Amino acid sequence: MNRFADIVLPLAQPAYCFAVPEGMELREGDAVAVQFGRRNFYTGIVWRLHDNPPQVKRIKPIDHRLYDHPLLDDKQIKFWEWLADYYMCTIGEVMRMALPSLAKPKASSDEEFRSMEFRPRTEPYVALTERWLDGEALSAECERIARRAPRRREVLEQIAAFDEKLKNSEGEIPRRLLECDSSMLLALKKAGYITVEQREREVEQHAEVAFVTPALTSSQQRVFEEIVISEETGRGVHLLQGVTGSGKTEIYMAMIARTLARGGDVLMLVPEIALTSQLIERMERIFGSRVTAYHSKLGSRRRTETYIRQSQSHGGELIVGARSALFLPTRHLQLVIVDEEHDTSYKQSDSAPRYQGRDCAIMLSAMYGAFTLLGSATPSLESYANALGEKYGYSTLKERYGGAVQPRIIISDTIRSVKRGERKSHFNSALQRAIADALEQGEQVMLFQNRRGFSPFVACPDCGWTLRCPNCNVTLTWHRAADRMECHYCGHTAQVPKSCPHCKTTDLTPMGFGTEKIEEAIAALFPDARVARLDRDTSTSESAYNRIIGEFASGQTDILVGTQMITKGFDFDNVAVVGILNADNLLFIPDFRASERAFQLMTQVAGRAGRRQKEGVVVIQTSEADNPVIGWVARGDYEAMARSELNERHAFAYPPYSRLVRLTLKGEDATILKQCSSRLAEGLRRRFGGRVMGPMTPPIDRIRGLWIVQIMLKIECGRSMSRARELLRQELDEVGKIKEYKQISIAIDVDAQ
Ligand code: ADP
Ligand code: ZN
Ligand code: ZN
Repeated sequence: MNRFADIVLPLAQPAYCFAVPEGMELREGDAVAVQFGRRNFYTGIVWRLHDNPPQVKRIKPIDHRLYDHPLLDDKQIKFWEWLADYYMCTIGEVMRMALPSLAKPKASSDEEFRSMEFRPRTEPYVALTERWLDGEALSAECERIARRAPRRREVLEQIAAFDEKLKNSEGEIPRRLLECDSSMLLALKKAGYITVEQREREVEQHAEVAFVTPALTSSQQRVFEEIVISEETGRGVHLLQGVTGSGKTEIYMAMIARTLARGGDVLMLVPEIALTSQLIERMERIFGSRVTAYHSKLGSRRRTETYIRQSQSHGGELIVGARSALFLPTRHLQLVIVDEEHDTSYKQSDSAPRYQGRDCAIMLSAMYGAFTLLGSATPSLESYANALGEKYGYSTLKERYGGAVQPRIIISDTIRSVKRGERKSHFNSALQRAIADALEQGEQVMLFQNRRGFSPFVACPDCGWTLRCPNCNVTLTWHRAADRMECHYCGHTAQVPKSCPHCKTTDLTPMGFGTEKIEEAIAALFPDARVARLDRDTSTSESAYNRIIGEFASGQTDILVGTQMITKGFDFDNVAVVGILNADNLLFIPDFRASERAFQLMTQVAGRAGRRQKEGVVVIQTSEADNPVIGWVARGDYEAMARSELNERHAFAYPPYSRLVRLTLKGEDATILKQCSSRLAEGLRRRFGGRVMGPMTPPIDRIRGLWIVQIMLKIECGRSMSRARELLRQELDEVGKIKEYKQISIAIDVDAQ
């Protein structure tokens, strides 16, 4: 027996060695309780069992084991290790993020810890007593009591004939699957026929059923067959590029049915939690109780239960969730689907591990020997390049289902509209006309504006003064309904200024516009229309969100104004017009991915229009009517966008032809921050030469009271990333040794977006 265990704790620290108490049975992947420091009791994961005593005098014993089965299997252990190595964080940080909070209690005493431990729900389980296990004896008994107690006999026979597969590991029958009342069970127990025990609910094996999935159209069927070939020939990853409304979901369903039927688990990732409820309903209609949702909006108890249940599952489960679902201990993984694979919300950027969910899905899937299906109308250039290079299988679906036609796209030149005097508040004449027509026909309109609030800043017309955030280097946004100024970076709020503090003018001008202002302006222009707004301010709760969506879906609202939130996935039948109010602020983001992103976003928004037989209209307002991105969107020409962008990326060695590692340095003292970043950049240049960019000041160089500087590393594809990470670690260690730089925090973002 191993005497020592390296235990991972949910801290930014390496695994610590603990002693395994005599008689405690442990496996790698087990969750345990340990005392760490004098007053802390933590949940830890057994990472390695071994017999090498560590070089310390006193070694603490493990307190106790938490569940009767390991939480992680060997592949998940490998996955966490890969993640920590690749994204340059500790396994403890992976643990902190991966486990739902109730599954990793932390306490200041042993008793407190035990009281916080997660107890799965228990329920009664029934078994025949020893004496009646013998089938012949039991049937004789049934004959004997047949006349006197026919109901008793029925229940006993039911118990005797119970499907072996549905019993728990002790051979007991879940009470809830028996058809009888509790007085009968009590009677049978008293008469010595059965035992009834309270036990943790165990995961049952699914009974075999044939799933009825929608019949595929011939082009969907062709794509399905291509995907199956990819899977069967061991291609590993397949990219499905299908326009919105082409029926990608139906193809997913066919793949899911295939996988579940052979006992495999399926993990389906979706970018927006908000979208899961719609999708879950669709999936449940076909796959019933096998469907489980998993995302951060679910209560911690639900998530923890799901987590623990998955670690015992027998396979045949469908998980639909956000990127965090990647960390569910899904043991029989055979298929991973990443829907809207281009979506930026798959990347976790704000805290370690800063992982890219799509890339991790591919890695996890490979570790299980499973198959990955990526789907999108507008794939990321990374995935598209892999498809072109035949690393991934690739299929396209170009027509919408049921003869629905692609929307007509109108590019509306804002400057010209202004010159002709046709623009009213924020709407060019083309958009005004389209909206008026739609409303007349009783059809609906969606208006997209990338910014929330009323106006992004309020300025003094005389001296140019603006109200800025005291913690961040940005202006405060005016939120008119809430009657306050708000920082979109730190949440700081202030009163709306009544006058300029310098020249005392009271005539402050709101500049620029957000969703709130559009909502007001459109209501003024179409006073009879019912207008609603969907953005972070109006959907603070799930119910508020569902109400806004529900009212639009049922036609109680005519015009829906919103941010990105309205762009994704919804399938509204009656939307005839989609307006993009200002494409310019999508096009001019200082980022090498700006064109790709703008194309994706506009195409997604456009996809909301005209989903049935009727042709929808999309109006894009821009002062850059000649911008090639606008042209590609208008023609629906993904290939042209991709070709042009890939050429450019190739010329400047940007992803997918290189990998970017972004270092973000933050500190209170701007001078020390500057010194530290120069020192780091210099050191990195010695190791990486011209691959180092910066230090540079980001567009917003101060957030939450901390100054920010960035350094970027560009590693060409074909160069060893693991070597690069090693060199980077060495340099960070060097800088970390300098005392006055200890106050600077350095965040590493591998494959930064
Ligand atoms: P996508 O995911 O590609 O945007 P969906 O799968 O949501 O497209 O399909 C769009 C609409 O067409 C949905 O309402 C869907 O139910 C319907 N649809 C697509 N394919 C089929 C099919 N084979 N049978 C029945 N309905 C389909
Ligand atoms: Zn002023
Ligand atoms: Zn702020």
